[in-house]
Amino acid sequence: MQTIEEIVDTEEYRDSLSTVDAQGKRVWISPKKPKGKFHNYRIVVSILLLAVLFGTPFIWVDGHPLFLFNLFERRFILFGVVFLPQDFHLFALGLITFFVAIILFTVTYGRIWCGWTCPQTVFMEMVFRKIEYWIEGDANQQRKLNAQAWNGEKIRKKALKQAIFLSISVLIAHTMMAYLIGIDQVLQTISQPPSHNIPGFIGLVAFTIIFYFVFAYLREQACIIVCPYGRLQSVLLNRDSIVIAYDHVRGEPRGKLKKKNTEAKTLTINDLVKPQGDCIDCKLCVHVCPTGIDIRNGTQLECVNCTACIDVCDEVMDKIEKPRGLIRYASHNQIVNKTSFKITTRMIAYTVVLCLLVSFEVFLLSTRGETETTVLRVAGSLPTELKNGNTTNLYTVQVTNKTFKDMPISFRLKDSKGIIKLAGDKFVAVKDKTSETAIVVEMPKTEVEKRKTHLEIEVICEGKIIETVSATFLAINF
Ligand code: SF4
Ligand code: SF4
Repeated sequence: MQTIEEIVDTEEYRDSLSTVDAQGKRVWISPKKPKGKFHNYRIVVSILLLAVLFGTPFIWVDGHPLFLFNLFERRFILFGVVFLPQDFHLFALGLITFFVAIILFTVTYGRIWCGWTCPQTVFMEMVFRKIEYWIEGDANQQRKLNAQAWNGEKIRKKALKQAIFLSISVLIAHTMMAYLIGIDQVLQTISQPPSHNIPGFIGLVAFTIIFYFVFAYLREQACIIVCPYGRLQSVLLNRDSIVIAYDHVRGEPRGKLKKKNTEAKTLTINDLVKPQGDCIDCKLCVHVCPTGIDIRNGTQLECVNCTACIDVCDEVMDKIEKPRGLIRYASHNQIVNKTSFKITTRMIAYTVVLCLLVSFEVFLLSTRGETETTVLRVAGSLPTELKNGNTTNLYTVQVTNKTFKDMPISFRLKDSKGIIKLAGDKFVAVKDKTSETAIVVEMPKTEVEKRKTHLEIEVICEGKIIETVSATFLAINF
């Protein structure tokens, strides 16, 4: 008989994938329908997340979407604030903060993201899988249906399922497109013949095919093979990370319940002999797993922390009158040493880095101006001397207006007796765009005492200084 150490340390399961057979063919997973406390909580969270995902494109602020990620035009709106390519540094920092946050969270709480909030898991387990259970029944009925010859019932069920899958994929594709180009553009695209907006139409069809392929065919393979986050788990998790874990100390040695010597026709739990460990090897935790693994082998890359095995095992523990939690949220060290949650040095380090990054990001966002102005001397232009002895330089000015309103702009020299003349009567920085104009800076001789003079130019909108930019003034005869 194997010792606990031998059972725990065996790593043979790592030699093969549960979703690939010995011939290398895909093993189609039909998990048993999950139910239980955690599953109910996940349903609530999923409904909220889906409501946010599908509802957000319809939320507009001052005539603009709350969120827009227009990669094609390099235009982004976050919480109603427009970000242009000039704000790339904020985006880059935001992304770094996001990734550090994910790493920190994973080190501490394992793959809670995967199980509770990842769109792939939410759609797969809470939308597509539920439709499958509704049409084809639980795992055994699904397997029976797949094995049976094509008849009226099978054609009807499969066609209905695929038609609904395709319809939902169309809905998801349109929603994703709304985040990219705005719901107004999506509604316009679908209200016109495809020939009016061929790129938009191709985008919608491509998204639909991708989502349909992922949820109808790829399924758990997206988490196991495609998702980079899943593949990073082995370097992110440590023995103190909270994961969904089987308590092998309590569960082993596992063994089936055996009947006591009894003549009773109706057996109760008291008529059965339990093995030494609490696991009765019913394998329900394997049957319910959407990635087809046995969590009793330990933490595995394939485990998306969906909590289905916790619920099903708790139900088994209730039946055999043992405490719940043979499979539960716990760290390896908590199980082995029976210790409580511990904050590690790595967690503290990540938290410090995260706080610094978030503070810096908040600082940059809160001090971000409404405009971004550049003043450059016109290439090849030379300083000119006027009859009154003053010198002029010609500049090109670009003003990026990061608001949703046009801004009338004027310019003034700071701490200087010179003047600025605008090309044309007035200059308006067009909303959400970069506008360009030319200015002439005229400086009296007394102000120009060297070849290059540093200028500070105030950018003024409706009487308020909104920005101060630097420029260099070139003199003649130095
Ligand atoms: S569901 Fe629980 S009791 Fe059944 S095999 Fe899994 S760990 Fe053991
Ligand atoms: S092992 Fe448990 S938590 Fe992990 S994917 Fe399978 S059922 Fe979900």
